[in-house]
Amino acid sequence: DVITGSIKSAVNKVRFKDDAASLKKATTELRKALLKADVHHKTTKDLIYNVELRTKELGIGQNAFLKALQENLTSILTAEGNQGFVFSNTPPTTILMTGLQGSGKTTTTGKLANYLKQRKKKVLIAACDLQRLAAVEQLKQICAQIEVDLYFDDIEKDPVKIAKAAQEKAKKELYDVLLVDTAGRLAIDTELMNQLGKVKDALNPDEIFYVADSLTGHDATKTASSFKEQIGIDGVILSKFDGDTKGGVAISLAEQVGVPLRFVGTGEKMPDLEVFIPDRIVSRLMGAGDIEGLAEKTSAIIDEKKAKEVTKKIKKGEFNFNDFLEQLKMMSKLGSMKSILGMIPGMSQMAGQLKDMDFENSDEIKRIKALIGSMTPKERNEPSLLNPSRKKRLSKGSGLSEVQVNKILKQFKSASKMAKQLSNKGGMKGLSSMMS
Ligand code: GDP
Ligand code: MG
Repeated sequence: DVITGSIKSAVNKVRFKDDAASLKKATTELRKALLKADVHHKTTKDLIYNVELRTKELGIGQNAFLKALQENLTSILTAEGNQGFVFSNTPPTTILMTGLQGSGKTTTTGKLANYLKQRKKKVLIAACDLQRLAAVEQLKQICAQIEVDLYFDDIEKDPVKIAKAAQEKAKKELYDVLLVDTAGRLAIDTELMNQLGKVKDALNPDEIFYVADSLTGHDATKTASSFKEQIGIDGVILSKFDGDTKGGVAISLAEQVGVPLRFVGTGEKMPDLEVFIPDRIVSRLMGAGDIEGLAEKTSAIIDEKKAKEVTKKIKKGEFNFNDFLEQLKMMSKLGSMKSILGMIPGMSQMAGQLKDMDFENSDEIKRIKALIGSMTPKERNEPSLLNPSRKKRLSKGSGLSEVQVNKILKQFKSASKMAKQLSNKGGMKGLSSMMS
């Protein structure tokens, strides 16, 4: 995404010497990148000030600058409050989902239910958007797909009554979680707020989530603040964090609204939801990929044992082409490819280029598969065997030019090297050592 590319390039553009002029240049580039990524101007100003200060403390240089940036971004994104999903001591944990029309409330409600179901929770969704005709139908489809129960009432016109009845059912039938989807409006209006207020009073929810559309830029921050003032929100879920989204919205929201970001939505499909973990988002913003996020996402759906084996291999630097093929196969189960690719070190740029294309049949992957297809089993297991004469043979066998063969092998090598460093040193710590 935009910020990923621009922060990274902002930092890389500057040849750092140990002098104030380099630092000035770096902060100028960074300021431009942040503003372009829709970070609020005040947030940008404060951030730049703090990064400059901290860099000087650490001793001017590129590593110090990166470390200062990473620390400050992490601290902004770490708002006080809960992280991820928090269960109430007295089930059902009741969550009121709020947000403007089209922000992604209904989709996100389904994604959350799916997330909880994968963690063996019994979930009920209540369909309380009676504004849009198709709203209940949309939830019916989602619930059928993820196999989660839906409470709806085709006759009742009062969302408060439906919400209340759903809560009764959830209590009586021992559901762990009740997610209440509500109606949105195109903009904030008093009628909407009054209605939400009534639903809130009737349910006494454990938490109120606000779904913010990251494509709406600065408006997302303003609207979230109004919702916070008028009905109170306990967490923000940032939807549409994929696509051409400017990641700066996350930074602005966290800093300006002061409510923790709890999850991010990274695609239209049900698995495209991740817990918001500041460290991880920062390493993604700075273009370092997110190995842990990837491992977690895969392990929820995929054979835990296999995932562990792969992690171990990555750590030892033994990740080979067979593992790669295996990973590709698993990935097709995981929802939108873009969100996955964004987590792999070195691949976030490629992810930006992929829109909603068919990953399995993309040219890039076809080439990689052709290349691996012409390797001997031994070569697949030991990429280090690939000397110039073997590469020539692979080029002939796969129909790729030698330049293409070399390029793919180089990408593979640097990706697995990066992965090894990241997983051994843990996220950002690995990053700064790599950049030195
Ligand atoms: P609601 O009016 O707030 O309930 O919004 P919907 O859940 O109906 O979503 C509006 C549109 O946004 C739909 O087309 C969704 O598929 C899409 N959408 C929701 N979340 C995401 C996301 O994280 N990424 C992408 N790309 N699209 C999303
Ligand atoms: Mg909806």
